[in-house]
Amino acid sequence: MSNHTPTHYDYAVIGCGTIGSMALWQLTELAPEASVLGIERFDRVHTKGSYSGESRLFRVALKEGGIYIPMVQDARRMWLEMNERSGRDIFLPVGALSVGPADFPAMTQTMAVIEEFGLDHEVLDAAGLAERFPVFAAASPDTAADAAILDPAGGGIRPELAVAYAQEFALAAGASLWDNTRVLAVEPGAGPEGATLIRTSAGDVTADKVIVANGSWASDLYPDLAGHISVQCIPLTWYLPLDITGFLPENLPIFMRDIITADGEIWHCYGAPSIDGYSVKISHGDFIGDAPTPDTLEALRTGELPDEVLRVFSERTSAFFDGMLDAPVRITLHHDGFTTDHAPVLGHAPGTDGAVTVATGMSGNGMKFAPVYGRIAAELAVTGHSDRRPDAFDYPTTDREPSAAIIPATLH
Ligand SMILES: Cc1cc2nc3c(=O)[nH]c(=O)nc-3n(C[C@H](O)[C@H](O)[C@H](O)COP(=O)(O)OP(=O)(O)OC[C@H]3O[C@@H](n4cnc5c(N)ncnc54)[C@H](O)[C@@H]3O)c2cc1C
Repeated sequence: MSNHTPTHYDYAVIGCGTIGSMALWQLTELAPEASVLGIERFDRVHTKGSYSGESRLFRVALKEGGIYIPMVQDARRMWLEMNERSGRDIFLPVGALSVGPADFPAMTQTMAVIEEFGLDHEVLDAAGLAERFPVFAAASPDTAADAAILDPAGGGIRPELAVAYAQEFALAAGASLWDNTRVLAVEPGAGPEGATLIRTSAGDVTADKVIVANGSWASDLYPDLAGHISVQCIPLTWYLPLDITGFLPENLPIFMRDIITADGEIWHCYGAPSIDGYSVKISHGDFIGDAPTPDTLEALRTGELPDEVLRVFSERTSAFFDGMLDAPVRITLHHDGFTTDHAPVLGHAPGTDGAVTVATGMSGNGMKFAPVYGRIAAELAVTGHSDRRPDAFDYPTTDREPSAAIIPATLH
């Protein structure tokens, strides 16, 4: 833990994971003379948050469209800036590939967004896909042929590196970071001269402005958010191809694939090229379907995927990716907080007169936007306002209705 004094800071960030680390960095950019403190419950980087798991997908041609496109374009510039400053490949500019029947909704929505925003892209037919990216084994001849949309501005993110370097940039600019320190309560106005009192496992500290970015633990500090944010368990799986060549980052973008199987079922997977040089992340956001049973949920919580679900997913992974063995070589379990409308909470906490900004409920989609969401949180704290922030991200004082401008975002 670094310096515990002074006990008063101009700005404090609670939770220094994905969004909090970026907010910490952005506070030091926006308010370079200010004193800035980050407080993190676990180690500086750790495996318990929503950001662990080797890679995350980044897309510019987001089928969610609308308000998300300008923000993701800003985020891309910031990811490239992080690469430049760190000298590390935090962002891997390998492109993003959507594969599926040309008339599948995810494909037509993506094309509509590309056209609306004039985004760079390339369309491949089945023959073009087979030639450029032969790892995608053709779907059954009985089903619709594959097409593909290549989003050249997409890519992958190394999430642990992203968190570590955002913190690093903040520390280099003079911020303090208390790790292994749990925030127990946030009490606006309870400190001297109306400052916000932050009670922590290492003692009290005060700050003029506070950003709360405690991820899946949102309701620990804001119990009313429990009704708006549900924490979901998200597994990741890695598979083993015998020939890795076509799966290496120089040969494969991050990808999403939809297949309508011969029996009419829709099968979705997403993944990233091989980062470790031998296995490939191919996964599925929802291993338990729309109607989880207590048994399947319990299995996920205790670190196991339901056998039957995993067997079917593995068989299809093996069938639809060239030369892939039909059992995973690695499974990890993660979590994220999902809002009822899948738009994040990124706004001032009610009744705090702008003293507290809450940034949580990232709904399976927070990594790609992390630098820009961190920027917005910092702008809200420093100036009280952010031009980039959609009103639909308001702190939900009632059950927030989805904005017409938003098509709910999906995992990845
Ligand atoms: C398996 C998986 C795959 C995903 N794939 C993608 C993808 O491909 N693309 C994409 O854009 N997004 C993806 N996401 C979503 C993205 O990773 C999350 O939305 C994002 O990481 C959430 O960030 P966060 O800051 O809210 O939470 P976190 O990163 O978990 O940060 C919260 C931090 O707060 C700390 N904390 C909690 N309570 C306290 C306390 N009381 N005191 C102090 N500190 C506290 C925690 O320790 C943690 O470090 C995926 C998520 C998962 C789980």
